[in-house]
Amino acid sequence: MEQKIHHTIIIGSGPAGYTAAIYAARANMHPLLFTGVEPGGQLMITTEVENYPGYPEGVQGPKMMDDLQKQAERFQTEIKFEVITKVDFTGPVHKIWTESGEEFQAHTIIISTGASAKWLGLESENKLKNRGVSACAVCDGFFFKGLPVGIVGAGDTAAEEASYLAKLSPEVHLLVRRDVMRASKIMQERVLNNPKIKVHWNTEAIEIIGEEEVEAVRIINNKTNEESTIAVKGFFIAIGHQPNSAPFVNWLDMDDQGYIRTVPGTSKTNVPGVFASGDVQDRIYRQAVTAAGSGCMAALDAERYLVANGIL
Ligand code: NDP
Repeated sequence: MEQKIHHTIIIGSGPAGYTAAIYAARANMHPLLFTGVEPGGQLMITTEVENYPGYPEGVQGPKMMDDLQKQAERFQTEIKFEVITKVDFTGPVHKIWTESGEEFQAHTIIISTGASAKWLGLESENKLKNRGVSACAVCDGFFFKGLPVGIVGAGDTAAEEASYLAKLSPEVHLLVRRDVMRASKIMQERVLNNPKIKVHWNTEAIEIIGEEEVEAVRIINNKTNEESTIAVKGFFIAIGHQPNSAPFVNWLDMDDQGYIRTVPGTSKTNVPGVFASGDVQDRIYRQAVTAAGSGCMAALDAERYLVANGIL
């Protein structure tokens, strides 16, 4: 059977993917959008979003994603709740495959697959995920109100989340693996001047202790090799994110961390007709509003590509 060639396929369903869909659909490009493993993306595991312009009272992350999906559907975006695992960008028609092996083709592809939180990789961390171990203090900190918590990381995210947790917890243990923090000066000062936050320098977590829920974390000082245990009820991992770019590795230019490279000021990748938007190509800003803006850019770039090639 001959394959239908879509004008545009969008991979990913965070603010970037849905914004690309809204723009592409309104430009008569009949977009087909694949949601991926986590429909709605990272905002689905967020509570209140207070910094997205236009919501003076804030908005719940899942509500915002639901609204974005409805807005994309209103203009006839076709949505498939499937994951793309393989692509062939030999071109000019681009091919992609779902996890179940079904093939789809399109003249243009917009990649908006986002980024995922990194984990330490401890067995005990995996066992206690969602039972006290979390990668999102803002989402889950509230559950540990009044209780001691631990957090690992030394970047802006860890600093911001440690300060957030200190508003809820009497005792926040921040584990920093080196003797310096990577976080910006102002964020570091906030952490270091907060009497509720205890920074453990040169310290790594080696085991999270607990059966049904977190009870403590076993730590090691990597200078002295001294081990000790701290009692905590919640343990937060804030060690950065990994872009979800694995299916595109053999096709697209990426930086050393796997973020897709785009031509500055555009969403163009090194493959004509393939565009990238949102966190999968942004290691710096990583905000819902910047992701949405770059999704808009990708749809406009794809539209211009279709017009220039006489397809639209
Ligand atoms: P970063 O990559 O900046 O920092 C990750 C931190 O985790 C590093 O300090 C790193 O340690 C540590 N780390 C990594 N792996 C491990 C491990 N296995 N064990 C222990 N520690 C580990 O990630 P962030 O998420 O903090 O920030 C990403 C980007 O987003 C940055 O550009 C940041 O500035 C920005 N951001 C800005 C904010 C703001 O301005 N309000 C808020 C949040 C993020 P080491 O330093 O030793 O490598």
